Amino acid sequence: MAEILRKEVFCLPEGLIYLDGNSLGPMPQDIPDTLNGMLTREWGQLLIKGWNAAGWMDQPARVGDMVGRLIGAPHGSVVMGDTLSIKVYQAVAAGLKMNQDRRVILSDTGNFPTDLYMVEGLIKTLDQGFELRTVAPEDVADAITDDIAVVLLTQVDYRTGRVHDMNAITRAAQARGAVMIWDLAHSAGAIPVDLAASKAEMAVGCTYKYLNGGPGAPAFIYVRPDLAETIQPALSGWLGHAAPFDFTLNYHPGAGIERMRVGTPPVMQMTALEAAMRVWDDVDMQDLRTASIALQEQFIADVEARVPNLTLASPRDVERRGSQVSFRFEQGYAAMQALIHMDVIGDFRAPDIMRFGFTPLYVDAGDVTTAVDRIAKVMDEKLWDDPKYRARNRVT
Ligand SMILES: *Cc1c(COP(=O)(O)O)cnc(C)c1O
Repeated sequence: MAEILRKEVFCLPEGLIYLDGNSLGPMPQDIPDTLNGMLTREWGQLLIKGWNAAGWMDQPARVGDMVGRLIGAPHGSVVMGDTLSIKVYQAVAAGLKMNQDRRVILSDTGNFPTDLYMVEGLIKTLDQGFELRTVAPEDVADAITDDIAVVLLTQVDYRTGRVHDMNAITRAAQARGAVMIWDLAHSAGAIPVDLAASKAEMAVGCTYKYLNGGPGAPAFIYVRPDLAETIQPALSGWLGHAAPFDFTLNYHPGAGIERMRVGTPPVMQMTALEAAMRVWDDVDMQDLRTASIALQEQFIADVEARVPNLTLASPRDVERRGSQVSFRFEQGYAAMQALIHMDVIGDFRAPDIMRFGFTPLYVDAGDVTTAVDRIAKVMDEKLWDDPKYRARNRVT
């Protein structure tokens, strides 16, 4: 197994144990220089010539291929842009067009709220009697009935880390004639994914979590190659047009995955992401998974041995878990604040989840040991029981 740990690649403050790469990955050390070069040499000197000469226009597809390698997507099937919320809207809208005589979008109650909110908004906009149906995650397979147009699921549950069986659910959806869309927000860069093998129609995801693209980094969308020439993009922006610089009055979708682009890409963010993706060039996702499992198993065993008042909220079977471990504790918010004060960063998800992400590129066994020491101290000494840790910040 090739070495996965590469702490020196990332900017991590001395002494900080960062178990929150599942929310916002740390910055690769070379990002400031890369961005500075883009600003001074490209924007500064080339100005508008940068679109061609510096490859800005090709960047969404070029970076899409880098992301695609990590999620089993063939060359030319992934494109970057917008935010994940927008990509969810775009994918579901396209999925409904593929299944015009059906009216139900199926998702689960564990899904990240924005995915459900975007579907609600789309339904209101369409105003054609569409319905969002949500069921418990474990009931999804049974809920795929003949009236389902689109199944929209996030593969790894953001709260508990529970993983859906991508191949089995996709097969079940397609057997009933439904279009399958996977949200890979907590999968890309976290666990091995083989989109091509799953045969799912579409997938979407973000890049500021495990892929370390930085706050606001662009999202991605995948369309199965055999569908890419017929799929109808709902957000028909000019950069998804077949010939944007012909400036014709009517929209004609571009070739293949390019049609899923919308407007001008965020070139600075895309440049940071492209540099962050180079960190993955020699990372084998199976090796990463092996390392992640070792860290998670160590963490669970140590916490359960030393901190009995935390209750495991994640599946105990590692095969059913992504790259995070969550524990329930009634005063979870205050406890996490106390822990952050001790330089162990995880996060809190309402109502009572303390969530810890394991990212083997920059977290090792020694970090896990130290983190558990500090969690035990917060609990044993009830350090959470302090009013200053109870006031909620705007971002939790
Ligand atoms: C993080 C996350 C999002 C965030 O969407 P943005 O538009 O990037 O803010 C959406 N969906 C899921 C499942 C997520 O985990």
